[in-house]
Amino acid sequence: MTTVPDDEACVTQCILEARARLEKALQTSKRNAHSAQLLAVSKTKPASLLRAAWNSGQRAFGENYLQEALDKQQALSDLADIEWHFIGPVQSNKTRAIAEHFAWVHTVERDKIARRLSEQRPTALEPLNVCLQVNVSGEASKAGVAPGELMALAETVMALPSLNLRGLMAIPAPCPLDSSEEEQRAPFRQLREMLDQLQARYPQAALDTLSMGMSADLEAAVAEGATLVRLGTAIFGARDYSTIS
Ligand SMILES: *Cc1c(COP(=O)(O)O)cnc(C)c1O
Repeated sequence: MTTVPDDEACVTQCILEARARLEKALQTSKRNAHSAQLLAVSKTKPASLLRAAWNSGQRAFGENYLQEALDKQQALSDLADIEWHFIGPVQSNKTRAIAEHFAWVHTVERDKIARRLSEQRPTALEPLNVCLQVNVSGEASKAGVAPGELMALAETVMALPSLNLRGLMAIPAPCPLDSSEEEQRAPFRQLREMLDQLQARYPQAALDTLSMGMSADLEAAVAEGATLVRLGTAIFGARDYSTIS
């Protein structure tokens, strides 16, 4: 993987390249040019780089660590329309702050967490947009609801007044470098088929989101219908986790 120096001009350039890459992937898949968006994954990166991305037109940012995210939200509170997505594991003791400070959560995998997020969502805010994280085959971590339990969890979440179920999310294990395109696409196809099933069962719901694809596998995810690709390294360069306390 190429290492990109951490400077603002570089982020500006990388955002342009990431957009072009997404556009090309959509074109190759004969999909509409605006049918997928970039989520800029900014964990471990300083607020100055998020600001550079915002100046290049990027609005949606994904963060994994609550305290780090809250600090950046404060530093960037002057940026209009910035949209914060929580994409890390959600612990029970963090649900209140997440419900108060984010527009989206991609990583809901248990009904207890979903109920807390709904109860703790301030009534003055729009319902919290939620994706259910699914443990598709080859999931890198053990995170995510098992496919067999997805329908039950979706039903629970849809009944919660302050959550808006938008779709599904997955983090497949990185494929070996010599794997075929077919092998790369398989877990993304699984996730899409699960969303198809949910849509068929709940035709009235706003189930429009497939959060899948990262810097290494954007093309495979877009070929299978990703609507939100989560790019970290490709936009901000390699991460240094020693900055996280
Ligand atoms: C870090 C992270 C990403 C971004 O990964 P890159 O390979 O750097 O693009 C995407 N999704 C989640 C859930 C992450 O934690």
